Amino acid sequence: LGASRTFWELVERRAALTPDRPVLLQGDRVLTFGELRSGAEQAAAGLHAMGVRPKAVVAWQLPTRIETVLLAMALARLGAVQSPVIPFHRDREVAFALRASRAEFFAVPGTWRGFDHTALAGRVGARGTFEAYGALPAGDPSTLPPPPADGTAVRWIYWTSGTTSDPKGVLHTDRSLIAGGSCLAHALHLSPDDVGSIAFPFAHIGGPDYLVMLLLYGFPAVLFEQFALPDALAEYRRHGVTVAGGSTAFYSMFLTEQRKQPGTKLIPTLRLLAGGGAPKPPELHHAVVREMGVRLTHGYGMTEVPMITMGSPDDTEENLATTEGRPPEGMEIRIADGEVRLRGEAVCAGYLDPAHTAEAFDADGFLITGDLGHLTPTGHLVLTGRLKDVIIRKGENVSAQEVEELLHRHPAVADAAVIGLPDAERGERVCAVVEQPPGAPPLTLGDVSAHLRAEGLAVHKLPEQLEVVDALPRNETLRKVLKYRLRERYSGTVK
Ligand code: ATP
Ligand code: MG
Repeated sequence: LGASRTFWELVERRAALTPDRPVLLQGDRVLTFGELRSGAEQAAAGLHAMGVRPKAVVAWQLPTRIETVLLAMALARLGAVQSPVIPFHRDREVAFALRASRAEFFAVPGTWRGFDHTALAGRVGARGTFEAYGALPAGDPSTLPPPPADGTAVRWIYWTSGTTSDPKGVLHTDRSLIAGGSCLAHALHLSPDDVGSIAFPFAHIGGPDYLVMLLLYGFPAVLFEQFALPDALAEYRRHGVTVAGGSTAFYSMFLTEQRKQPGTKLIPTLRLLAGGGAPKPPELHHAVVREMGVRLTHGYGMTEVPMITMGSPDDTEENLATTEGRPPEGMEIRIADGEVRLRGEAVCAGYLDPAHTAEAFDADGFLITGDLGHLTPTGHLVLTGRLKDVIIRKGENVSAQEVEELLHRHPAVADAAVIGLPDAERGERVCAVVEQPPGAPPLTLGDVSAHLRAEGLAVHKLPEQLEVVDALPRNETLRKVLKYRLRERYSGTVK
């Protein structure tokens, strides 16, 4: 199946192999691979009857549901260009995404979680808006044009998280997403007996990548329209989930839940927690492995390249804790001036804005990531921070990530973000923003400095400003900390 060129080829081949095996589990609903194929084909015919033609741009802002996956595969069957929008986004982001992608159609859930998406579509002037929550348009598949044959055409427009600046539209092909999903499946040693879970929005780049794994191996995943512990645990138990995952914030959530029930196994069937997308403190890794009794593999990905490196379950605990794993075959990593550059099939075709594309690739066609890192002698990638996250204090470089990792070792720190703030005297000053666990004694700058010095941090890297917050600002997708918000909030706050 790995040789499939398009998503639709993958769906057809898998449906022919194991039509009766489940692919998606949601609440009491089960969708089989055969039903994925037939449901997507009927929806494709319904969309075609509505006027959706191959190559039409169709944006969708839908929660993680069986219908959403069917719609995505219906669009793949038609050969349309789909642009998933995160369900939590509002007027500003949605208007921007629709306009920039020149979407002709826009699929919405109607009112979802008390918010009226149809009204939002009206406000931002979306044309061709249709609801795709309870039921999808349906039609007679015999009226459909043939499926697309070319896996290298742009068929997906994704939006970056907007951590460092405004979100950028990223162009993907079926081939780049299939390459990413195949590599992920391979790294995790999956089998047809696994039961996975999609706890993050399917509208995230990880969604179709996960679907590739399900199609390649023929195992099912549990879908969550709203993910919240402890309720989600009941679903994990009910369906016997063996592989769960998400980002670093998920591991912390699981660990907090585990600590309420020491000595029990939260999810008895779970063998592997796999995730990525954000820095993971080694302390957190070790605590999860020790207290939850599972393997934890973590990887590096970005909207532009959903799968770059991934820890493998048979690697050493030390490598799993301190590295992002190794690149799969076909992913070339080049380190230039400490910055990671990438080339391979899973790399995006470019950005919606040609100006972004022009500056993102080097002369040899490597994508310049803006992430800092190095390769160990065994070929494992260690990420040390983001270029934009290096604070230059009196001409000396301070890695925000290094300070954050050390802050995590303090028992009264639940999470921490370190930022550089403009400073007339020093160029930039180091500001630590910390979230404390409930009931912890309030930290002072003095406590933090003493702790960091005891951990061996060089004096010139010590924070000169401390802010204690109830909650760090995070995005809704992977719960990533939005540092630009912190910079906005604290710039000019002289201490
Ligand atoms: P924008 O590009 O709009 O500023 P963003 O880069 O945060 O936003 P994403 O594509 O969602 O948007 O995130 C990719 C980035 O996340 C990577 O470039 C990297 O900085 C970070 N990242 C991903 N995986 C890891 C990881 N395992 N460890 C540390 N950082 C990671
Ligand atoms: Mg980015």
